[in-house]
Amino acid sequence: MIVERFVLTPFQQNTRIVACSETGKAICIDPGEASPELGAFIASRGYDLQAITLTHGHLDHVGGTLALSREFPDAEIILHTGDEDLYYGLPQQPLFMGIQPDQMAALGFDYEDPPALSRNWVDGEIYDVGRLKFSVRHCPGHTKGHVVLAEETEKVVLVGDCLFAGSIGRTDLPGGNYEQLMESINENIIALGDDFTVYSGHGPETTIRHERISNPFLNGTYQLSKGKYF
Ligand SMILES: [Zn+2]
Ligand SMILES: [Zn+2]
Repeated sequence: MIVERFVLTPFQQNTRIVACSETGKAICIDPGEASPELGAFIASRGYDLQAITLTHGHLDHVGGTLALSREFPDAEIILHTGDEDLYYGLPQQPLFMGIQPDQMAALGFDYEDPPALSRNWVDGEIYDVGRLKFSVRHCPGHTKGHVVLAEETEKVVLVGDCLFAGSIGRTDLPGGNYEQLMESINENIIALGDDFTVYSGHGPETTIRHERISNPFLNGTYQLSKGKYF
C-alpha cells in the first residue's frame, strides 16, 4: 500500500493518493483544490486512478474534484448521500464560513459547480483498490454524510475530519453534532484496535493507541457536559 500526501488549501488539508503496490490501482482521497501536483504524481508512477473518493463534502476536501475529474474522466466520484447537499452546494459553502462574495476570488474560493457523483457510499461496503480492501464506515457528527475508510490487513484508517492527532473534528458547522461524532469515533474508529495507523484530513498521522491514551476528547480529560478542561 502506497500513501502519498499533498498539503493543499489555506486550511492545510491533506489530500492523499492511495495505491495498491501490486496492481497500480489508485484512488485520490479528498482532492482539496485544483493542483497540477496530483495528476503529475499519478502519471509519474503510472497509476490507474479508478476513483476520487470523498470522506465528506466540505470545500477543503472536495474543491479539487472538478479539476482532477477533467484530467481523469474515467475515475468514479463517490460520496455518501448525507453530504450531497454540501457537495452540490460547493459554490455557496464559503458563505457559511463567513467569506463574503467579493472576497471569494481573492481567497481562491470561487468554485464552479462540481461534477456529478458516480454513486454513493453504502455503510459497510467493501471497496476494492487492486488487492486493498477498504471497509466503508458511515461516521456522522462532523457532517451528516462523513465516512471513514479502513484497510484491515494494512491496519490503516483514513478518517477525514472525524479525528485528528490530539483533537476531533469541529461540530459547529451545519450538520455537525458532538454526541454523534463521539459515537462515530468510538464505534467505528477506536474499535478498530490500537495498532491501526490513522491518516487525518489535517495534521500529522497518528495511531489509535496514541489517541486513545493522550487525546483529551477520548481519555476523559475533556467532557462537553462540563464545558471545560479539568
Ligand atoms: Zn470538514
Ligand atoms: Zn477539513
